Amino acid sequence: MNTKTRRLGGWGFESETFEPSPQLIQWLTENVGPPGPALGDTDLKIPKIRPQTLPSLPGEVCTEDRDRLFHARGQGLIDIIRVRSGTVSALPDAVVRPSDADEVIGILDACKGSGVRIVPWGGGTSVTGGVNILSGDQPIISLDLERMSGLIDFDSISGLAVFGPGTTGPQVESALAEHGFTLGHFPQSWELATVGGWAATRSSGQESLGYGRIEDLVAGMDVVAPAGRWRLPALPGSAAGPDLRHLVMGSEGRLGIITEATLRTRQKPEQTAVHACLVPDLERGLDGIRALMWSGLPLCMLRLSDPPETEVAMTIGLGASRFASLAQRYLRFRGIKDQACLILVGTSGSELEVADALEGARNILRSRRAVSLGRGPGRHWQRDRFRHPYLREALMDRGWATDTLETAVPWSRAALCRTEVRRALETALEDEGERTAVLCHVSHPYIDGTSLYFTFFFRNTSDPEATIKRWARLKRAASDALVRSEATITHHHGVGVWHAPWLRNEAGELGMKILGDAALRMDPERMLNPHVLLDPTDRLME
Ligand SMILES: Cc1cc2nc3c(=O)[nH]c(=O)nc-3n(C[C@H](O)[C@H](O)[C@H](O)COP(=O)(O)OP(=O)(O)OC[C@H]3O[C@@H](n4cnc5c(N)ncnc54)[C@H](O)[C@@H]3O)c2cc1C
Repeated sequence: MNTKTRRLGGWGFESETFEPSPQLIQWLTENVGPPGPALGDTDLKIPKIRPQTLPSLPGEVCTEDRDRLFHARGQGLIDIIRVRSGTVSALPDAVVRPSDADEVIGILDACKGSGVRIVPWGGGTSVTGGVNILSGDQPIISLDLERMSGLIDFDSISGLAVFGPGTTGPQVESALAEHGFTLGHFPQSWELATVGGWAATRSSGQESLGYGRIEDLVAGMDVVAPAGRWRLPALPGSAAGPDLRHLVMGSEGRLGIITEATLRTRQKPEQTAVHACLVPDLERGLDGIRALMWSGLPLCMLRLSDPPETEVAMTIGLGASRFASLAQRYLRFRGIKDQACLILVGTSGSELEVADALEGARNILRSRRAVSLGRGPGRHWQRDRFRHPYLREALMDRGWATDTLETAVPWSRAALCRTEVRRALETALEDEGERTAVLCHVSHPYIDGTSLYFTFFFRNTSDPEATIKRWARLKRAASDALVRSEATITHHHGVGVWHAPWLRNEAGELGMKILGDAALRMDPERMLNPHVLLDPTDRLME
């Protein structure tokens, strides 16, 4: 059990922060403008919303105000703004914590016919409105699965580990470490996100290149739905019809509650090393990453930052590194400074395996005129990778808002898609005379294409509604640009509430009907998370 207190109205734990460097403040001032009004969490108010009457429920039932507010919202930018500004319009009537699948069944049974809606809650790290409690007349509960956590069974011969849905990333890794194994699933939200949440949203970890996405790691599941209990057996492969695990993975609580997941694990490697280099421009960077993918080298992580992100990383993160400044001088000497792109290459294994893989990668990148920065910047990245999320709130305290979005697209359209999304974000607030700064990186490459991950910054206003309106305009502009680019609306954050209006473009009319029919079969009264995935209403301002 983690004894640290989670922050209300921000990421992570109350005891942790990640302060922006003076260089980042300067960069934001130059690229976005002077800070707007700060939106801190010091005078956070808990809205007084009286809970509605609920049927008698099994499990731990809590109606305490702070707990209800904590479960009213996930971790999207506007969730944080709403909690900090006291503008959350609805709270769950109770937070219910079952201890096992039987209690989940009991809760569903008790709610049947009563009109109560149920929002499953893993770690509450959704950035798509997936756990949000939206206003409505019906009573609503947040079903927090934290008591259903831990390693239930481990088959060391097959490497199959059965976990409770509420098990967080650190809990997974420490339980497996006792057996010398690892799951290797490290999303940036790893400290707080859970096994059930990962499967429900089709999460992807930073080392997905080596270990696979969560759908590669989930071998089987136990699912409880209003229509009954569904056991999806853990098998290494099967041709027995369509793979029904894939109907549940990504269903975001609409089809049922994942009460157990059997995960494919591996023996923990001796070491993971990350090598860094700079290439002269994005074209060579993308070409280099594609060549690495096609080389078949045993890599577990590849990351390519575009020129603006490289500039930020070099001045803020790696600026302190002696190697980085030497390389910057060298690149300047070659007249290619402004367009330089940072590449990180990660691999795991024995010392010899790591050395061989990195040597192979260096050879491929050398032919793209890469300048090696060694392993120092990679160690820096490894140390801070789960701390970066704390920066968002630290910036909000100072008057800037920041958010991220992600997509994936075939290699042939990757550069154009980046340009389209950047342009959409950069121009979305022009009529208000506001600037948006946009950074982009590749972090989950595939044989046929890659993810693109965008971070954007804009200024707070003194009115939280107006700041949310700015965010909604940016989000709509970027989502429309993704559709125009024939890119996915989400590579790993999921659909939730906020991406749902754009899902139809990807799933198609018939696909939406199939999903709708499946949801109705599993949950005929539409008790479970009714606004995620299938409700196309634009709720970006809610
Ligand atoms: C700072 C930050 C960084 C992030 N980085 C990444 C990243 O690198 N990769 C990535 O994939 N995602 C990332 N995310 C998004 C988020 O962490 C993922 O979507 C994650 O998988 C959600 O897990 P969770 O346990 O917090 O689920 P929650 O947020 O609690 O829930 C997500 C959705 O799943 C449903 N759900 C949860 N548990 C269950 C269950 N047991 N059964 C059925 N439905 C359930 C919920 O109702 C909701 O719709 C990031 C988010 C933040 C805030």
